[in-house]
Amino acid sequence: MGRVLLLYLSIYSFFLTYSVNAEEAIRITSDKKTYPLTASTLLCIDTLNSYSIDMFLEDNDPSICKTVNQNGLPHGYSDATIWVRSKIHTPAPVNQQWIAELDNALIDYVDLYVIKNGKAIQHFESGDRRPFASRSIKARTYRFPVELTPGTTELLWKIRSQSGINLPLVLYDKEKLEEKDLSEYLLSGIFYGILIILAIYNFVFFIVVRKIIYFYYVAFIVSYGIMTLSFHGFTPLLIWFDFPWLYNDGVLFFVSMCVLFSVLFGQRFLETAINAPRVHTFLNALIIFNMIPVILSFCDLYAITTRLAAFLGVITPIILVFVGLSVLKKNERRAKLYLLAWSLFFFGTTVFSLHKFGLFQGSWFIMHAQQFGVLFKIMVLSYALSDQLQSLLYLDQLTGVANRESIKRLFASAVRNADKNQYAFAVLTLNIDDFKTINDSLTHKAGDELLKKLTDRLISSLPKHNTIIRMGEDEFLILFEHIENTTTLARHADNILMLIRKPFTLDKELIHITASMGIALYPNDGQAYDILIKNSGTALHKAKQLGKNRAYFFNTELDNYAIDHLKLHNDLYRALDKKELFLLYQPKINAKDHTLAGVEVLLRWKHPERGIIPPDIFIQIAEENSVILQITRWMLEESFKKLKQWHEMGWKEIYIAANITAKDLEDKYFLKDLLNLLKQYDLTTDMLELELTERIIMHSCEENIHRMDALHQAGIKVSIDDFGTGYSSFKYLKSYHVNSIKIDKSFIDQIESDPRTAKIVKAMTALGHELGMKVVVEGVENKQQVEMLTKMHCDIIQGYYFDKPLTEEELTAKYFLKR
Ligand code: C2E
Ligand code: CA
Ligand code: CA
Repeated sequence: MGRVLLLYLSIYSFFLTYSVNAEEAIRITSDKKTYPLTASTLLCIDTLNSYSIDMFLEDNDPSICKTVNQNGLPHGYSDATIWVRSKIHTPAPVNQQWIAELDNALIDYVDLYVIKNGKAIQHFESGDRRPFASRSIKARTYRFPVELTPGTTELLWKIRSQSGINLPLVLYDKEKLEEKDLSEYLLSGIFYGILIILAIYNFVFFIVVRKIIYFYYVAFIVSYGIMTLSFHGFTPLLIWFDFPWLYNDGVLFFVSMCVLFSVLFGQRFLETAINAPRVHTFLNALIIFNMIPVILSFCDLYAITTRLAAFLGVITPIILVFVGLSVLKKNERRAKLYLLAWSLFFFGTTVFSLHKFGLFQGSWFIMHAQQFGVLFKIMVLSYALSDQLQSLLYLDQLTGVANRESIKRLFASAVRNADKNQYAFAVLTLNIDDFKTINDSLTHKAGDELLKKLTDRLISSLPKHNTIIRMGEDEFLILFEHIENTTTLARHADNILMLIRKPFTLDKELIHITASMGIALYPNDGQAYDILIKNSGTALHKAKQLGKNRAYFFNTELDNYAIDHLKLHNDLYRALDKKELFLLYQPKINAKDHTLAGVEVLLRWKHPERGIIPPDIFIQIAEENSVILQITRWMLEESFKKLKQWHEMGWKEIYIAANITAKDLEDKYFLKDLLNLLKQYDLTTDMLELELTERIIMHSCEENIHRMDALHQAGIKVSIDDFGTGYSSFKYLKSYHVNSIKIDKSFIDQIESDPRTAKIVKAMTALGHELGMKVVVEGVENKQQVEMLTKMHCDIIQGYYFDKPLTEEELTAKYFLKR
């Protein structure tokens, strides 16, 4: 870029200094219709603006002037009045009309004197600071009908302008000029037609998609369009009222808007905010800087504004190219399209400029290279925008991976590859465990951030040819290709889960999550994509069922399981009505004296065809929809009924512990209903303890903390179930009112064999006591465990060593009647 610019400048300066010796008259011949008036002309620059026409009438060759050829005419900015004189020799009377033209629509004041024998025989006035009505020919350029009679005629131009000066002066045969106009209008029609179509097309997208980038694009095209219209002098022709501001200062406004919007567009298009934050800040500064000429264009400060606008107009595209280069690594496709667009623009401009300086012969294409450059540029950008729309449709907007819409396409390609290369591929359905509770405990932003970070981890860990699809909130599909065997696949799956278990930092806090995964293989587990997804979903369900945080391979028995699962779902609705549910009671024993402390109520479902279904299977199914609320209510009422009966029998010291789920806690009527029920059965709140699993508490949101507070206020005891299985178990203890912790069975299982586990249980017990809580242990199965736990000062022991869950009759027989 820099080199091209240098080339421009050197060619430019070379021609600027070029001057010739004597002013030659232009000879009109019968066959030529167009005469550049600048072949050799007299040029006077009147810096004090003090010359008058008389000086030229009296003195035929004013010494303050010099003779120059066309490239010697001034370019750039000047406050001076410029006088240019050409002599024309007309050999014989001709039956032609002649028009002298200055093809620079921005010039402020133009006067043309036609001088014959030392007398001004015609005087025309024009310029864009003068009313359009004052022009003798209403055209986009300044045109004057000059009279050429035999002999020598002088055309004397007096020009003054604050806009950039550039003086293409030409004498035309009128018919020839009309011909030229026609072809120019045709081209302009096509050019502006394309601009209008692209503007409308993208504006419609803006309305539909509501992405500001489309607006920036349209604003860029519109201001560019009006800018070129003004540059070429079309504005007064297109606007029916005389409005010199628009012809003159309006140009500056639209030039500046055009540059401004190209920066705004570039910023969005290249997503510099994400891809290059420092560049983004710099562009923000550039935007503010670009607003200055926009504002100044209203302030009647033409001279400064025009220079500033021109400076920014040159420097900004160059900056934007470097911005494009700077994001090339981060977003290759988009940056490449962007750079291509600008290259086309620069190419067009360069070809045009080189032609202007005489380096290229002016073919029709070269003469309009600048317009073509711009057209190609905006067409490429419009294509890039629709390409982006494609990504809007097929990419997940949060994480940037493929979305559901692209499943079909991605599967088709995976199937094609697999068939061609004769290998299997796997569909991994990945789901974060307890995402809802985790998400509720985070802010919306942090939840999104978590998903983003998770995806980034997945992307960076997976081999390149594997595709990630985000199916919904926390569910992802991974198409795992090139599978050698299931063992390596299982290892990959485990690696993925391990990766997810590593803590995430959100708002400087560490968040621990786990995920479960179901795996189905093509072609063994299905050929069509929907079957494969369904089967890997079934396997996922099984993985969750087995305790989450694991991967499970689909197999045909699972297929039955899936059907089962669905059936169970339906059956569960009727289980309550059909009285298929019943309760068992597992004693909780005081460690000190082995007396009964209370009972834990445990649900059972006696399915008419399948017999007893364990609660961890159907509770989970029930939790998937709101039937859990009814089940919990039934369980509570049933156990309160029993408790009341026991009281009436004279068994007063017994209390019950009931399990509830997150869904129950989150139900806004839960506490109210609970208290009503207690009242209904004449029970006090201290006879009830609620067991909440650690997971619920760990990921609890603000509201759940309030709900637990409310339970505490009402006098209901709360116990943390499965204590120690979650992460950072101790952290939340300080923020909740908890009466007891229930150390998970997995610890008790290892207490005799693993001294470290024993130490952990001891420490947990000590801590529980320190915080004023009772310590309960569950899953105690042998005498040795009982002895160890008693030594550690656990308060309450529950487990098969003392009792399995008992029926009501078994319970009363053992603990009431034998008292
Ligand atoms: P949990 O709350 O951790 O309940 C303890 C489970 O461990 C019970 O299984 C119990 O039978 C079993 N268990 C107790 N002592 C021993 C032992 O020494 N060895 C072994 N191997 N197991 C022992 P159960 O009844 O199958 O319940 C499983 C889970 O189902 C419960 O885990 C609880 O989370 C849930 N659940 C049961 N009833 C209800 C209920 O009414 N409502 C809700 N929401 N969940 C329930
Ligand atoms: Ca002007
Ligand atoms: Ca429990």
